Parts: sequence; C-alpha cells; structure tokens
Amino acid sequence: MKIIKIKLSISNAYLVKDKKSILVDTGAPNEAGKILKAVKQAGVDENDISLILHTHGHIDHAGSTAELKRILNVPTAVHAADAFMLRTGTNGEIKPRNVEAKMVAAMVVKPFEAVEPDIILEKEMSLKNFGVDGEIVFTPGHTKGSLSVMLPNQEAIIGDVMMGGWMGGNLFGTRPNYHYFIDDLAAVHASMKKIGDRKPSTVYVGHGGPLKFEAVVKKFAGKIQ
Ligand SMILES: [Zn+2]
Ligand SMILES: [Zn+2]
Repeated sequence: MKIIKIKLSISNAYLVKDKKSILVDTGAPNEAGKILKAVKQAGVDENDISLILHTHGHIDHAGSTAELKRILNVPTAVHAADAFMLRTGTNGEIKPRNVEAKMVAAMVVKPFEAVEPDIILEKEMSLKNFGVDGEIVFTPGHTKGSLSVMLPNQEAIIGDVMMGGWMGGNLFGTRPNYHYFIDDLAAVHASMKKIGDRKPSTVYVGHGGPLKFEAVVKKFAGKIQ
C-alpha cells in the first residue's frame, strides 16, 4: 500500500495504491490531465482506479471530478453534508479566519462544474470493497462533510482538517497550521483529536504537507488532548 501525493495548482490530490487504487480529491477545475499523468507515472493503470473519494466538496478538491468521471467512469463518493457542493458546483458558506484567508477566498472560491455524486456517505465505512485496506472516518470542522482516510500503515489523508505552512502550503509546508477556512473550530479540534486517537505517524493534507503527527500534537497541544 502506498500514498502518492499529486501536487496540483493550489491543492494536493492523492492516489492510494493497494490491490486496487482510489483517487482522493480531484484538484481545481481543468486538472484531470495532470492527475492522470501522475497516475501513469505512479505505474497505476487507469482501469485499476475503483473510486473517486472527496475529503470534502470545495472547488480545489472536487473541481475536476466531473471531467474525471467522464474519463474514468468510476463511482464518486462524498459525505452527505457536502454532497450539495458537488451537485450544484458551489462551495457552501466559507468562513475565512483572517485577512489572508479572505484574500485566498476571493481568489479561489468560485463556481465549478457540477456532478451528481454516486455514493453519499452517511456512515463511516471500510474501503475494502474498493480494493483498499483502509477506512473512511468523518472529521468535520473545515466543512460539515469533511472526512479522512485512515490506513493500516499509520498514515492518513485528512484533507483540510489542517494545512501545512502558509501561502497554500508553499511556505514551510511541513509545519502544521490551521486551515484558512473553518466552519466550526470546536469540531476541527475534535476531529484532530479523533485522528490523533488512532496514532498516525504521518498525515497528508490538502495543502502543503505531509505532516509528522508529532509536530501536529506539538502545534495544537492543549487543544486536542
Ligand atoms: Zn477546503
Ligand atoms: Zn483545500
């Protein structure tokens, strides 16, 4: 099993390679080509991708889903609370946490191509049916429908529960930081704790990273313990 980070224009998508492979997030609009190139470079056959899973419904994580769905013709999954974002190609209410975040919101948050999700997650579930030895756990706070993928090798993909560094992860990308947008801070802290309870060694985030979980615990000490 292996996590392959696909660095895109403003976010990361991930390929989880196991018996089969799943794609976690699809970047911003018009990034399908870049993603498929990375899939090929990882030695994965497009036909071995069994699922497109979304950590949440924002434009920089679901922006190329419609395009990839047309090419790959595999099921797409999203948490029930974020399903409307894919269905309508909108981002819901964005709550920037500071001035820099407001600027990011003005640049990034736009409508995108809508796509009807095939699997609407209301319960956490295993990914075994998709050929991946891992599980989906719900980690709300950044959005109500944010989720993470926990793998048995002590690695996890946690989307925008937090981010790496500043400037969308381009500066000090391995330093854990709060994300620009937070729907519910108490829920973010509860999700950090939920992830921490599973003792991951490394977490992969939507922007920057990966992050050593030791560094996460240090940064958010007192908030998540
Ligand atoms: Zn987001
Ligand atoms: Zn993001």
